[in-house]
Amino acid sequence: MRVRNILEFAQRGLEHLLQIIFPFECISCGIGCDFNVAMCGVCANELRVPPSLEIEVTKKVSVKVHAAGFYEGPLRELVLKKHYKDLSASRLLANVMFQKIDFEKLFGGDIVLVPVPLHWTRWASRGFNQATMMAKFLSKPTGIPVAKRLVRRVRKTAFQTDVPGDERGKNVSGAFELKPGAREKLAGKHVVILDDLCTTGSTLKFVAREILRCHPEKISAVVACRAS
Ligand SMILES: [Zn+2]
Repeated sequence: MRVRNILEFAQRGLEHLLQIIFPFECISCGIGCDFNVAMCGVCANELRVPPSLEIEVTKKVSVKVHAAGFYEGPLRELVLKKHYKDLSASRLLANVMFQKIDFEKLFGGDIVLVPVPLHWTRWASRGFNQATMMAKFLSKPTGIPVAKRLVRRVRKTAFQTDVPGDERGKNVSGAFELKPGAREKLAGKHVVILDDLCTTGSTLKFVAREILRCHPEKISAVVACRAS
């Protein structure tokens, strides 16, 4: 317990120090912000939150998707920063999600975050998975654990934003597979799939289809932004 207190104290000190060297700014208006928020209070209030979206996974199961905002303005810029290996964008996206999505109200029980996986070739060239980093950053303030490496992307797919709307389902169909141990870890849990962007919902649908085979209690999804 004492070691944990010392570590937390050291982390807070480091955050203050970082704030002095690199002042944190609101991603929308540029005004100074705290380390753990991405937007000042005014801009966070002004950010339009899309209504939740239901995605049909099978005839009997659908998944509710919660987004912090739409794919526009500063959120779009942050999502695109992954192409330039900008890891700081993951933290800011997670912060916006924590500011705009009421995790405490929406999610309860035995819950776990599952980031949408990248194909290994993309991971190798980029060095990180934005969804995994966002899940790690969200895990701290929400207290929700992250289940990593339980689902893998077995096929390299084109970016959904580069594919015409009616072909997006085909692009990610069969692209995901469970890894050994996934069933034991996800059975009976409320699984919350996490991604940076939801376009047609096809990616979330096919990840959810794999997770369904683990017999979870429920599946939901959270994304930083929605295309429409
Ligand atoms: Zn602002």
